[in-house]
Amino acid sequence: MQLTQQIRIWPTEAQEDVLDDLSEKCRLIYNFALEERKKAFEEDDKRISYIEQQNQLPKTKEEYPEYKWVYSKVLQSTLRALDADFKSFYSLKKKGDESARPPKFKGKRYFTTMVYNQSGFKFGEGWVRFSHKHPSKIELKFDIPEKFSFDIVRQVSIYKKDGEYYISVNYEEEEQEYVDNGLYQAFDLGVLKHTAVNSKGKTIEFTNERPDRYWEDKIRAVQSKRDHCKKDSRRYKRYDIALKRMKRKCADQMKDFQHKLSRKIVDNTRSNTIIVGDLSVKEMCSQNKYQKGLHTSLHNTGHIGRFVRFLTYKARLVGKRVVEINERKTSKRCCVCGSEQDMPIHKRTYECGDCGSEMDRDENSSINIMSRYLSQNGLWTAYQRFVDNLRQTGIAIQEQALYS
Ligand SMILES: [Zn+2]
Repeated sequence: MQLTQQIRIWPTEAQEDVLDDLSEKCRLIYNFALEERKKAFEEDDKRISYIEQQNQLPKTKEEYPEYKWVYSKVLQSTLRALDADFKSFYSLKKKGDESARPPKFKGKRYFTTMVYNQSGFKFGEGWVRFSHKHPSKIELKFDIPEKFSFDIVRQVSIYKKDGEYYISVNYEEEEQEYVDNGLYQAFDLGVLKHTAVNSKGKTIEFTNERPDRYWEDKIRAVQSKRDHCKKDSRRYKRYDIALKRMKRKCADQMKDFQHKLSRKIVDNTRSNTIIVGDLSVKEMCSQNKYQKGLHTSLHNTGHIGRFVRFLTYKARLVGKRVVEINERKTSKRCCVCGSEQDMPIHKRTYECGDCGSEMDRDENSSINIMSRYLSQNGLWTAYQRFVDNLRQTGIAIQEQALYS
């Protein structure tokens, strides 16, 4: 499985200068190659290929020896990136998109990402080193936390974001083979919490941390201060930078939490099969108007789709599987007797008018998701065990509640 890991690095000032210098060369080569392509396209309606441009690199290096500072495959990758930008432009144009524009020149002080593909980098225990031929001869070796160890690294990129330096590591990790071990865990995923039930009939709740709540007011306050300044004034820019930083921090914290929680879930369950409701956006959008609350909060803060992606790949690495099933009506349906009722989002308890059972709405949904999965897949032994175990906890599923 191909995975990507972002890691912050802490260059010294001298190393920063080298990185900036090298990146600047990439920026120039990008702009130079772009100019050439644009000219050919606009004047002669001709397309220049990546190969043609790559073949010119040796000549360019003879004329302008500074380009030799950059590891040669990094320069090639820059041309490749330009090629990809052009390809998407051509394909948009081909589709008749009038608004399609060729790639733009990269402005001064733009840090062009440096892509080391297959070679030019080396990982050791707690460090990474990059090749270059900058005249300063300063070593580009950076500490990285020891928890990061990669078996097979395909590509490493160095980039800069809001004045901070990062590397992005593309690596290969082996998946474990999946075996259905007869144990299952079903999830009702939500914005506030995720509710799970396992084959033993045990319910577990995972409350979502909400860093967005913490940041919301602070972000709004700075935004308002910024908007009271004259645009492009020094104060405006200062607030703008602060604002971007806060937004990124908030997003990072959300993501971080999702990583930790998905890891915890995958590590702590004995079930090899994790079942979640299929949360395609399409379905969310086609929901009734009165469920607008759920809809908007999902768009603003949910990121549930991303959470499922994290859960899925972490599970695959340890031989578990995440399966998505249609969760239609799983919140409306009583898991005990199978009757249905409307469940507006504010109703936190499912109270059945037919059989009188009463339970947390998400617990009801998760039991429905489990029952549906087991019955749809004909896993009758597992289904019977689940029903028996649930009865021990006081939830007596009736026979007519079985999914057909
Ligand atoms: Zn009922």
